[in-house]
Amino acid sequence: MTATQFILPESELPRAWYNLNADMPVPMLPPLHPGTQEPITPEFLSVLSPMALLGQDVSPEAEIEIPEPVRDIYKLWRPTPLLRAKRLEEALETPAHIYYKYEGVSPVGSHKPNTAIAQAFYLKDEGGKAFTTETGAGQWGSALALACSFFDLGCEVFMVRVSYDQKPFRRNVMESYGASVYASPSNRTECGRNMLADDPNHPGSLGTAISEGIEAAVTSNGEKKYSLGSFLPHVLLHQTVIGEEALKQMDMAGEYPDIVIGCAGGGSNFGGIAFPFIRENVRNARGTRIIAAEPAACPTLTRGSYTWDWADNAGLAPICKMHTLGHTFIPPRIHAGGLRYHGMSPQVSALVDGGYVEAVALDQVDTFEAGVMFARTEGILPAPESNHAVRAAVNEAVACKATGEEKVILFNLSGHGNFDMQAYADYHDGTLERYEYPEEDIQNALTRLPDVSFAG
Ligand SMILES: *Cc1c(COP(=O)(O)O)cnc(C)c1O
Repeated sequence: MTATQFILPESELPRAWYNLNADMPVPMLPPLHPGTQEPITPEFLSVLSPMALLGQDVSPEAEIEIPEPVRDIYKLWRPTPLLRAKRLEEALETPAHIYYKYEGVSPVGSHKPNTAIAQAFYLKDEGGKAFTTETGAGQWGSALALACSFFDLGCEVFMVRVSYDQKPFRRNVMESYGASVYASPSNRTECGRNMLADDPNHPGSLGTAISEGIEAAVTSNGEKKYSLGSFLPHVLLHQTVIGEEALKQMDMAGEYPDIVIGCAGGGSNFGGIAFPFIRENVRNARGTRIIAAEPAACPTLTRGSYTWDWADNAGLAPICKMHTLGHTFIPPRIHAGGLRYHGMSPQVSALVDGGYVEAVALDQVDTFEAGVMFARTEGILPAPESNHAVRAAVNEAVACKATGEEKVILFNLSGHGNFDMQAYADYHDGTLERYEYPEEDIQNALTRLPDVSFAG
């Protein structure tokens, strides 16, 4: 009988993050200034971000050392466990071996502190005082609030209004860690006031909250910097601690994955589990299939265009080459709040465009069905976002049943769903709706892309 849990000792906590820039198999274009459309300068970005993080974004080094104070804090919950989902395999009657990496053991229940702790460390190191940020469902805000409290920094969170209303307890978590939380759009920023003037019932989106967070930092005379919890190369870099640990743990299990799966909102937990395995594909000709799972209601990778677009709603953030549904896209109010974003990490986008990563879009009802099945077999109630990865893994395992193939499937369980009871209540009540984003609305939003002539 093979083991169920694969636990690494503290001494095996990785000493370096893996930087995919070193092995990127497809060309990347730089982010452009939102106004001039010229490649962005460090001066523009240094208003927003600690210099160390900007350096990491463009570093060609494959390994970037994890500072000791960051490793010390990681040790509060890392290395995280990797488990074989034997009871799920049995329930599915699949010959496939299903493994999952569990990031829900962090203090806030998701992978997000992996980057929040690192970002707060660098801000403190450079003499910064506070971070402003956006949050969707509240997971990112909780992670950054936690990190800022560890490093004695201020934390100002703009929370997407629909989540602020639906998930008040997340706000209490952030406030417990000492953060200030505002519903976005808010009247604290000019862009927020404009959005409210257009629509007093504006539900908000990650894009609106990003615009507000940026404005609050830019107008703070250098007091505050802006932190982003996904999307950027340094965020995905910090998350690679997940995949580096998983590589060692799969080795302990004596197997190597044929398929690696992560859910994708901005791309950070997906990049975190996938990039070290993409390195093995590129350097060592491993043939692992890498799959990004997204909502059918916000189908950025599967139905968006790979083109230039602003990273936020108001056009204050850089223009990036990425998969996008258009910066004016307002995603429907699905429960996987962390996956409601019009764009996607430029690195993940380029990998999908180049055929190195596959993408699948899943309906939320199907993802909850898989999540409940996972809870009943493995015990953990997954976050609604993570349910997309669970569903994709279940689909692959069911395909193995049909073909009789004994494939090894690894997915990232990015967080637990203990703060998402309304979503589960709706699922059990049968009020959770099937929803596919209408093609007409996608085409409409794509007519409002920036007209970029930059060719690289
Ligand atoms: C925020 C979040 C996500 C989506 O963000 P990514 O940057 O795409 O990883 C997924 N799962 C959980 C649990 C989250 O909190």
